[in-house]
Amino acid sequence: MTPIQALQKYFGYSEFRHQQEAIIEHVLNGQDVLTLMPTGGGKSLCYQLPAVLMDGLTIVISPLIALMKDQVDSLNVNGISAAFLNSSQSPDEQQRITDRLKNNQIKLLYLAPERLFGSGSNLINFLKSLPVCLIAIDEAHCISHWGHDFRPEYLMLAGLKNEFPKIPVIALTATADQLTRKDILDKLNLKNPAQFVSSFNRANITYRVAPKKNSFDQLLNFLEDRKEDSGIIYCLSRKSTEALAADLKSEGYAAEAYHAGMEHGDKARNQEAFLRDDVKIIVATIAFGMGINKSNVRYVVHVDLPKNIEGYYQETGRAGRDGLPSDALLFYSYGDATKLKGFASVPGNEEQSAIMLKKLDDMVKYSQLQTCRRQYLMQYFDEEFPDNCGSCDICLSEYEKFDATLIAQKALSAVYRLKERFGNTYVIDFLRGSKSEKIREEHKQLKTYGVGADISRADWFRYIRELVTLGYLRVSDDEYPVLKLTAKSDAVLKGLEKVELIASQTIEEREQEIIPYEAGLLNDLKLVRRDIAINENVPAYIILSDAALLEMATYLPETLDELRQISGFGDVKLARYGREFLIPVKNYCVKHSLSSRIKQKSPKRERKTRAERTPTKRRGSDTKSETFTLYRSGKTVESIAAERSLSPMTIESHLSHFVQTGEMDILELVKEEKIPVIQDAIESYGYERLAPLKEVLGDNYTYGEIKAVIGWMNRDNN
Ligand code: ADP
Ligand code: ZN
Repeated sequence: MTPIQALQKYFGYSEFRHQQEAIIEHVLNGQDVLTLMPTGGGKSLCYQLPAVLMDGLTIVISPLIALMKDQVDSLNVNGISAAFLNSSQSPDEQQRITDRLKNNQIKLLYLAPERLFGSGSNLINFLKSLPVCLIAIDEAHCISHWGHDFRPEYLMLAGLKNEFPKIPVIALTATADQLTRKDILDKLNLKNPAQFVSSFNRANITYRVAPKKNSFDQLLNFLEDRKEDSGIIYCLSRKSTEALAADLKSEGYAAEAYHAGMEHGDKARNQEAFLRDDVKIIVATIAFGMGINKSNVRYVVHVDLPKNIEGYYQETGRAGRDGLPSDALLFYSYGDATKLKGFASVPGNEEQSAIMLKKLDDMVKYSQLQTCRRQYLMQYFDEEFPDNCGSCDICLSEYEKFDATLIAQKALSAVYRLKERFGNTYVIDFLRGSKSEKIREEHKQLKTYGVGADISRADWFRYIRELVTLGYLRVSDDEYPVLKLTAKSDAVLKGLEKVELIASQTIEEREQEIIPYEAGLLNDLKLVRRDIAINENVPAYIILSDAALLEMATYLPETLDELRQISGFGDVKLARYGREFLIPVKNYCVKHSLSSRIKQKSPKRERKTRAERTPTKRRGSDTKSETFTLYRSGKTVESIAAERSLSPMTIESHLSHFVQTGEMDILELVKEEKIPVIQDAIESYGYERLAPLKEVLGDNYTYGEIKAVIGWMNRDNN
C-alpha cells in the first residue's frame, strides 16, 4: 500500500498537508527526521501513518497522559491498534497491554520518557525484545532549556540512540527557534537528520487585539455570537480564572476554571467536560492546553497580556485545529505591560532578564501594531510573509469607510415600513423598487419603495450585512429569518447617529466557493455524533471533526460511497458509523426536497480558508487577471482550473468578475436565450445563495452561467 492509499484508508484524508508526504517518505526509508510544524499542522500523522505501513512496533514518547489517551482513542476509532502505558493504569491493565505487545497486536505504544528510562524500570529491556521499527518523540522541545517548556525527564532520551541504535527516530515540535532546534538535535544524537520546517502560518485563525477597557463587557460582546462554540480564555492569575469563570457562569455560559493550583480531580473533571463539549468555555492559566488536542476550539481569548510571542502563538494555535475559521482575541492595556515588566526580571541573572524583557517588548509591539499582525508573527518566527494577510483586524479594517447614514436610514426605514416581517432579499428588492410580482401591491404604494434603486443589489446585500454586524439591524433566528430593528436603530432613524460603512469598491470579492451548508442538518449530525461518542466513551471530536460534519451538511452524501469522499472517513469509520450518519442526511433531504451535492465537491479537498486563498487584496485581482489572460488565450475553464490548481467554480467566478466590469461580454459565457430565465430566477430568489438558484433552474444551467448573469446584472455601468 502506498502512503497516499493508507492516508485514505486509515485516516480518511485524500491529500497530505504541509510536508507530511516527504517526511513520511524519509521515515519509511529509515532516516532520522526532525519535524517542525505549527500546532494543529498535522504532526501526529507523520509517525502514525508510517507506523501503520511498517512491520513492527512504533514507540511514541509523549509528555502528558491526557495527550496519550486522546491519541490512542483517535487511532482506535480509526481501527488502528494503539495503547499507552502509564501510572494511571492498574497492574492488570498494564499486564494485558504487555501481553498484547508480546503477541504483536499493537502498532503504536505511547509512553512518557520517565516510564521508559525510570530507575528500576525494566520496560526498556522488554521493548528491546520486541520488533520495534520506529521511535517518535512528540513535543521534542521539552528536551531543551531554551524551549519554553523544559522537562527534565526528557533529558533521559539522550540515551535512546544507544539503546536502539538501528531504529529511526522522528522528533516533532511546534517550537521553531534556531537555538531550540539545534539543542534538540544535539541532545537526541540524531544521525544525519533530515529537517522539515513547515510554514507556521495558521491561515484559518483571525488575529485581533482590543484595548482593554471594560473588558468583561467586551468579552460578553465577543461571546454573544459564539454561544455554541468551544473556546479557551487565558488569564494570568489563578484567582482571576476562578472569578471570571464564575462571572461567565452567572451570565449563563457553561464555563469552568482550570489552573495548576486546583485539586487534581477538579482539573481532570473540568478538562474532561470541556473535551466532551459539556463545558463550552475553559478559563485557564497557561497550565491548560498542552496536550489538548480538541479540534473544534473556535476561539482563544487572552484577557491579560502574554509574556512572549512564543507562548501567545502556541496558545492561540489551539484554536481551529480542524482547519475551520477561528478567532484569537487579545485584550491589551499598557498597565499589563508595566506589570509584567516587574515579573520579567530574574534577580541575579541579568542575561536571562534581558532576554525575557526583550520577549515581552516584542509582545507589546505586537499589541500596538498598526500593520498586519500575521506578517509580524511570521517575521518573528523568521518566516517570509511579504503580503498583508487580509484576515487580521488591521488588514480587515484598512478598508475605506464612508458616511453611509442616509443608506442606513433607507434600510432601517424599509425594515420598519415592512413591519419587520421580511428577509433581506425582499427588503432589498423593495428598496430597489423591483417590478417583480413577488413584491406585494400594497408595499409598492409605500413611500420607501424604490428609494434605494441607485444602489446595486450586490452593494445592498453588503450594506445590510454590515448594518447587522454593527448592530443597527438584526436577523431573527426563525426558520425563515427576517430583518428586525434593534435598540440602536432609533437614533439612526432620527438622525442622531452617524453610520459609517465600508466603501464597496475597496472590498475585493473573496474567492469563496459559495456552497451554503444546511444549518438544520448540521445540528442533526451533531446529535448523531454525540450519541456515538457517548456510546464509545470518547469525546465527540474523536469520532469526527466539526469540519467533517460541515462537509456532510454541505454536500449531502446519499450513499456510503459518497460518504467516503467526506474528509475524515477512512474505511473503518465508514464501516462503523457511516450508516448512522447517512440517516439524518437522508431524512433532511426528503423533508427539504434536496439531493446529493457531492459532485460539486472537488476531490476531497479540505475547505480552504480565507487567508490561504486571498492573502492580499492585490493578489485577489491578480489571480482574476491571470485567469482572464489564460481564457483570452483560448483555454477552457477546465484547463485553466487544472493548470492553476483551482476549482472550475473559482475560475467561473473570476470570469464573471470581468462580466461585471464590462471587460467581457456575457454572451461569451451564457447563451442568449438562457439569460432572461436566469435573471428571472435571480429577481425572485436573490443571489445570496447559489444552491437554491441552481435547484430552481435545473440541470441545464451551470453555476458558471448563474454567476455570469449575476455579474452582468451588477455590472458597473448598470
Ligand atoms: P499537531 O500535532 O501538529 O498539533 P495534529 O496531528 O493533532 O496536529 O493534527 C491536527 C488535525 O489535523 C487532526 O484532526 C488531524 O486528524 C488533521 N489532519 C492531519 N493531517 C491531515 C491531512 N492530511 N488532511 C486532513 N486533515 C489532517
Ligand atoms: Zn493581516
